[in-house]
Amino acid sequence: MNEEIIAVKQLHKQYQESQASGVNNISFAINKGEIVAIIGESGSGKSTLLKCMYGLLKPDSGEVVFNGKRVKGPDEQLIPGHAEMKMVTQDFSLNIYAKVYDNIAAMLPNTNVAAKEAKTLQMMEHLHISHLKNKKITELSGGEQQRVAIAKALVSDTQVLLLDEPFSQVDSLLKNQLRADIKRLAKEMGITVVLVSHDPTDGLFLADRLLILRQGELLQNDSPEQVYQHPTALYTARILGNAVILNREEALQLGLKTDKAQIAFYPEWVELKNTWNSRRFEVKEVYYKGFFDELLLERNGVQIRALQLNSGEHQKNDHIQANIGRFLEF
Ligand code: ADP
Ligand code: MG
Repeated sequence: MNEEIIAVKQLHKQYQESQASGVNNISFAINKGEIVAIIGESGSGKSTLLKCMYGLLKPDSGEVVFNGKRVKGPDEQLIPGHAEMKMVTQDFSLNIYAKVYDNIAAMLPNTNVAAKEAKTLQMMEHLHISHLKNKKITELSGGEQQRVAIAKALVSDTQVLLLDEPFSQVDSLLKNQLRADIKRLAKEMGITVVLVSHDPTDGLFLADRLLILRQGELLQNDSPEQVYQHPTALYTARILGNAVILNREEALQLGLKTDKAQIAFYPEWVELKNTWNSRRFEVKEVYYKGFFDELLLERNGVQIRALQLNSGEHQKNDHIQANIGRFLEF
């Protein structure tokens, strides 16, 4: 059963009257337990949207509804923010001189000391930071601090976790673990997670649903697979998948006909073939990517990129046939 927990309704927030900034007439809904990723380039309105959802910013018009009730703005309550939501930002807002345990436990009331301790320890276990219990925040790495910040946010019966650029300070190995842990936690604890990022790999891996934001506008709202395979805007293909973008003339040079101004395709949509054909591409560059290569190919002065799964199979200056199996038109 899909139970709606948050509804954003025609939300509008503009910082300055003269220029477009903030978010513009955005509507979407989030179900309980969902992981939603909001992806957009820097300045697209991600943080603005998150702050409006949490009640840190007052929208100019429209509203955010949490469990059927309008989220109050900062001018309507003593402590801005929503009691059942928690927001973790890049600065983590931890007490850096206090121990890990105390940072997390401080979120709970002293009315039941035994329960407070049990909950704190359990949350540390959930986030794999039990061994850091007595360390000071200043003694932790960025990735460890991130985990403490999330434990702190979740310990007090939080229903919705709002994460603003959560992986920006974490190296890629830790990033993978943290992503997997957030996904596991959300499913285990039934928490709803909304994360915003300019890095699409954060969202694609993690999310049940992707929202694409550009200049304050919501462009697309669908499953990661659907958004990736069927982006409705060139912008989306570009930020999600390192897409190859060609204008109509370039496309024609490769024998691809379109009525639109531009076409786009992902490197993995290009099939490489060994069969001889007069319409061959020259391999201009081979980029080693670990278990595959990315090839920079050129024909009739037009360059494209393709994946080569058998790393090393084709070398620089080789001539190969490449078939662009599918492309998108914009
Ligand atoms: P993102 O988080 O996607 O990088 P933001 O929501 O921070 O984007 O910002 C969206 C737009 O609003 C940007 O153009 C930004 O410059 C502008 N903006 C954000 N905060 C303020 C502010 N306090 N005053 C004026 N303009 C702002
Ligand atoms: Mg931001």
